[in-house]
Amino acid sequence: MHIFWFRRDLRLDDNHGLHRALSQGGPVQPIFIFDSDILDHLQPGDRRVEFIASALAAINEQCKQAGGTLWVFYGKPLQVLQELKRKHAITSIACNHDYEPYARQRDEAVHEWARANSIAFTSYKDQVVFERSEVVKPDGLPYTVFTPYSKRWKSQLKPEMLKACASESMLDKLHKTTEQHWPQARQVGLSQWPAPLPFPPQPAPALLKAYGAQRDFPAVAGTSRISVHLRFGTISIRKLVALAIPQSESWLNELIWREFYMMILWNFPEVDKPFKRAYQAIVWENNPEHYKRWCEGTTGYPIVDAGMRELAATGFMHNRVRMVTASFLCKHLLLDWRLGEAWFAAHLMDFELSSNNGGWQWAAGTGCDAAPYFRVFNPSEQARKFDPQASYIKRWVPEYGTSTYPQPMVDHAFARQRAITRYKSALSGESVEEKTLFS
Ligand code: FAD
Repeated sequence: MHIFWFRRDLRLDDNHGLHRALSQGGPVQPIFIFDSDILDHLQPGDRRVEFIASALAAINEQCKQAGGTLWVFYGKPLQVLQELKRKHAITSIACNHDYEPYARQRDEAVHEWARANSIAFTSYKDQVVFERSEVVKPDGLPYTVFTPYSKRWKSQLKPEMLKACASESMLDKLHKTTEQHWPQARQVGLSQWPAPLPFPPQPAPALLKAYGAQRDFPAVAGTSRISVHLRFGTISIRKLVALAIPQSESWLNELIWREFYMMILWNFPEVDKPFKRAYQAIVWENNPEHYKRWCEGTTGYPIVDAGMRELAATGFMHNRVRMVTASFLCKHLLLDWRLGEAWFAAHLMDFELSSNNGGWQWAAGTGCDAAPYFRVFNPSEQARKFDPQASYIKRWVPEYGTSTYPQPMVDHAFARQRAITRYKSALSGESVEEKTLFS
């Protein structure tokens, strides 16, 4: 029996690894493992687990129509696979590449075990158009600046790279079984198994046409909201790039930013440190009370508070507001960017190590193609420009404009100057002390 192991590619259509597994002639048993090493660090009822479960339910429905089932397990991946091997004659395991450091280690361990047990373990490129070192500078080194990377990315793209593979039409090669394997919902922190995920939305042509003009206004539904689907692979990146090319260059560029950060993560996996190492010398204030106010959205800066409350309520935050809230944490409050990164990682539905780390290091000025440190967003100015009617703010901060809304917790002019001075002295080598993170 061949195993196809779903991870962050939760769809049956245009799935490269699944297609290759089915092409061997079957029978292919699809599986998913709720990784206890990841789940044990999440809060019960985490929205992302629910999203995954609902995507798995949709896959299972489709598998059932083809005479098979999706087997779902909870545990440490290697142990689950070992257990599976004890019960079934497994000859191969196929999956798609995952570029995050934890996933790389996990896959290496599985690969080693598989080799020792004469099981073929094969992984394929699926979640990006270009991966790893496929788009590099003429000297063969990775790009660290987005614009030349994106130019090269576009010049290397060929139409056949976007052709969808026929995985969905080969489901007759699935292992025919009615055997069901699902853990208890509470084992994965859910009270019950959710309904199957509806088919993922596709960005409408009208949205893409207006994207360049509307994308920065958080009160407007002007972005695709596709990020969670890209994160968990419920939609194919090839389909989206093919959609973007004739309709919106600016939207295509955003999809390329995603690949840029994944390429950076692959080539520079030490993401707990500033990409520009000199910035390690910044002395952060790391005031726990300030962090608390930022997290709960009571800073007295309405656009910051609106963003933080949108995140808490929905698991999403508009990109413009992510930039403003992130900049506020690093520059206005002089809190270590890793604290903000961790909060986003815990709460964003679309949390992606590569883009989140990239976005935070961009805002902190420490990243590979970051905003210069002396450019400090003025949150009031950002609100005036991108939320002129305060519609977004009023949606998330109902007490805005009343006496119960707090005064700004820090003066902008003071904070701006303090940040510039602090960064400058760190970069000139005057300060070497680094305070430890308080959580
Ligand atoms: P659209 O504007 O419709 O863009 C389409 C797709 O392009 C997105 O779904 C996403 O996959 C990609 N994309 C767009 N902007 C970026 C970007 N700046 N960097 C990388 N990819 C991009 N994005 C994540 O997917 N996960 C994260 O954890 C994440 N954390 C972020 C943290 C910070 C501090 C910042 C500033 C940005 C972060 N982003 C992250 C990028 C961006 O904010 C989101 O991708 C975007 O808001 C998702 O909304 P959308 O699908 O409507 O995007």
